[in-house]
Amino acid sequence: MKLTDLTITQAKDLLKKKEISAVELTKAYIENMSKYKSLNAFVTETPEIALESAKIADDNIAKDKARELEGIPLAIKDLYCTKGVRTTASSKMLENFVPEYESTVSKKLLDAGISMLGKTSMDEFAMGSTNLTSYFGEVKNPYKRNGEDLVPGGSSGGSASAVASGMAMAATGSDTGGSIRQPSSFCGLVGMKPTYGRASRYGMVAFASSLDCPGPITRTVADSALFLKVISGLDEKDPTTAPREVIDWTEVLGQSVKGLKVGIPAEYKSDKLNPEVQKLWDERAEDFKKLGAEVVEISLPHTKYSLPVYYIIAPAEASSNLSRYDGVKYGYRTSSPFKSLDEMYELTRTEGFGAEVKKRLLIGSTILTEEFYERSYLKALKTRRLICNDFDEAFKQVDVILTPSTTGAAFSKNDKLSPLDIYLNDVYTVGSSLAGLPSISIPVGKDKNGLPLGLQVIGRKFDEATVYKFAYQIEFISQFDNTPSKVMGE
Ligand code: GLN
Repeated sequence: MKLTDLTITQAKDLLKKKEISAVELTKAYIENMSKYKSLNAFVTETPEIALESAKIADDNIAKDKARELEGIPLAIKDLYCTKGVRTTASSKMLENFVPEYESTVSKKLLDAGISMLGKTSMDEFAMGSTNLTSYFGEVKNPYKRNGEDLVPGGSSGGSASAVASGMAMAATGSDTGGSIRQPSSFCGLVGMKPTYGRASRYGMVAFASSLDCPGPITRTVADSALFLKVISGLDEKDPTTAPREVIDWTEVLGQSVKGLKVGIPAEYKSDKLNPEVQKLWDERAEDFKKLGAEVVEISLPHTKYSLPVYYIIAPAEASSNLSRYDGVKYGYRTSSPFKSLDEMYELTRTEGFGAEVKKRLLIGSTILTEEFYERSYLKALKTRRLICNDFDEAFKQVDVILTPSTTGAAFSKNDKLSPLDIYLNDVYTVGSSLAGLPSISIPVGKDKNGLPLGLQVIGRKFDEATVYKFAYQIEFISQFDNTPSKVMGE
């Protein structure tokens, strides 16, 4: 088997048995990074750092002192601040920003022994579903539609593209309204957005603080469970992290779902849904019945407000979070001449931000003005509460909710989708983001063009265990083959 086709679970085993070395494993990934450069998945590559860590990993393994992810080559989305390594959030604004500190998530991964291969591209400041808005150019999906290039999804599109093509064994993503789950679905991967507060946001470039969640993009559910355990936990540097016990989720994999209840939300059935996704959704529900679970229809009556509420709250929070980019504290400052401080701000922000970010900042600042606040922002907050209540009610009846991850497969930038169509991509993911619930996307099949399709499992707050239990069963039944060398047609 090719080294770059190994999952984390397989690689850990081979490393432990000393059948492979961390250095050769890392080198194989570095080779793929240059081979598939045209996917443009990385903003910054750090092969020297990766090799340095791999050498240490081999040393530790030789001394039988392997840590949890010893020698595992991973990529980090470029919004996790990495000490001494440029962190851009795919924006011109942070093009030359080198953080003085390490984000909690990347620190936990480094402390667990990973080899950091580089920083992956994303939609600028995580705003988007296509990875077309990166200042460093578009990222491509390793899957093609009859030879045509497709988007990898976004905003964690670089991470998804890198993992699917075998340029990283797994990667971090971040999910505000779907940015881990949607690109995972588009690239045939497993994407987990944990409960809000499960893992620390410290050192992540902020988009919308009440929604942002770090999480893993992996090839398998077992890898996801392992990865999430490493990055989770209370962090004194992020007061929104919860003092919850971090359990070993790999232990629940394979456990029976007999007697558990699966909810199918009536409101998620839509004529916008690709019939091939609908079919897979129906089939998996039937499969759960065969496994002894009870499948019931549930109602999430405020679903239709999820997207509008998200697209009010997220830009409002973003306009506040991104006010720090003013050309004074850090990041880009205009090189054009200016006559006043205001003009310097104006030029800096006009030149430093891309179009999508500007659009959202304008929407966000308008929403927060005295004139609109009550009618829009406050109303959205109240409606968010109703959306959360819907889920609370549903979870009195069921243990998990099964939904599509996206309305269909990856698309091409030439498909001429309107901005509204693109926002519609998030229709299945934003609900659980607003409610802060753990949700995972698992690849379940392919469409008629051979493109991956995903389903999503949503669970109760902090009940990642049940989510993983179901995800594992879905993965087992679906037998989706995401071996990178096959995806790349080698
Ligand atoms: N696609 C959504 C947006 O553009 C979600 C992005 C995200 O989760 N970071 O806002």
